[in-house]
Amino acid sequence: MKLTFPQSIKAKLLNIVPQGMMMNWSAFDKSLLILLLSGLDQIVWWIWCVYSYLTPSVQEWINSDYMFQRIVEISITIVITFVSLLGLHKYRQNRLLYQITPMLVISIFTILYIHAAFSIGITSPTTIGGYISIVSLGFLFIERKYIYIVIFPSTVVLLYLIYLSATNQIDYAPVFSDQLNSSNIYKNTYWVGSMAFLYFPIFVICTSLFEILLNQWRNREQEIKKISEKDGLTNVYNRRSISEKLSLLDKHEQSYAVVLLDLDHFKKINDNYGHDIGDRVLRRVASILAQNIRYKDMVGRFGGEEFILILNEDDLNVVKEVAERCRYQIEKTQIQVHNGLSIHITASLGIAVANQDDSHENIVRLADQALYLAKSSGRNQVRHYLEIV
Ligand code: GH3
Ligand code: MG
Ligand code: MG
Repeated sequence: MKLTFPQSIKAKLLNIVPQGMMMNWSAFDKSLLILLLSGLDQIVWWIWCVYSYLTPSVQEWINSDYMFQRIVEISITIVITFVSLLGLHKYRQNRLLYQITPMLVISIFTILYIHAAFSIGITSPTTIGGYISIVSLGFLFIERKYIYIVIFPSTVVLLYLIYLSATNQIDYAPVFSDQLNSSNIYKNTYWVGSMAFLYFPIFVICTSLFEILLNQWRNREQEIKKISEKDGLTNVYNRRSISEKLSLLDKHEQSYAVVLLDLDHFKKINDNYGHDIGDRVLRRVASILAQNIRYKDMVGRFGGEEFILILNEDDLNVVKEVAERCRYQIEKTQIQVHNGLSIHITASLGIAVANQDDSHENIVRLADQALYLAKSSGRNQVRHYLEIV
């Protein structure tokens, strides 16, 4: 019984977190996350305001009335934020709400940011640092339309506020006392500490989100690269990668060898045991081939039940050895089929070695002729291009 309670909470929480890559979340889910993080940031502000308001030693540095006003404002904002968060999550099925929430949340977040920035100084390190971190993250995380519609106009407002405070038309940093604002603030430990304390959550949130988003991005890139290079069934290189590799070898005028391998009577395996077993055989053969080559060699699926090895080797005897080893390993492999029954398979292999000026089309053609020779000579054997008459 003890275990069920926390587990059900965990399950509920997992249910709330949207599935999949954060970058692919819907604009609605992203805006809920922004609302949550903004609520947490408001709590940090509330702690700072209450601390400043109640600590006697810092009274000379703050404008008490304005600080009290901020505590009231922030308390109300925190309540509204978390109530909205619950409400939005609950009524997410409402189409209108789902559509307007992102723009609404981002606009409110921006207004709150400008207001907070104004209270501690529109050109303070926290305001500027926070602005740069949030806008950079915004470009990565939210749709660009929000940046252009909300963030850019608010930048203009920020610049206008800078102008107004520079020309003494509005107060600068009204949360602090005149005494602090007119002194050397960089030598004031309360002010420096406040700047660091208020910037810290923005720094942590932005760096963590950057790390998560970029990490997911890198993983996706690797996944896409793998999908484009590898054969989905056998996980060895696909024909496109093999062709690219062969063209590259032509270009670099390197010596290399090609081994073509075709499974013997494979159609019968499909016919007798089904396509699934056929697929299992193909996967097993691919893994045997991958285990029997060196790291600088390459194995690929050339067609249905045909594989190709590209070996960084021009000594025919060495290539014959590798091919023979593969043939032997395939021959002695047992593949489990239904009801404990296991089957044996064999393969025929054809070898060609390329000199520097041979084209890869010619080498593959020679290897194919050698393979044909292996088939016509009784299968389950290795033949090479010099044996073709
Ligand atoms: P041989 O010894 O002359 O090579 O005879 P074979 O039966 O191996 O050759 P054939 O070309 O007649 O048959 C190849 C079979 O491979 C036919 C096709 O259905 C099967 N095949 C091709 N791709 C796949 C695949 O991805 N999965 C499975 N299970 N079978 C495949
Ligand atoms: Mg074939
Ligand atoms: Mg075959």
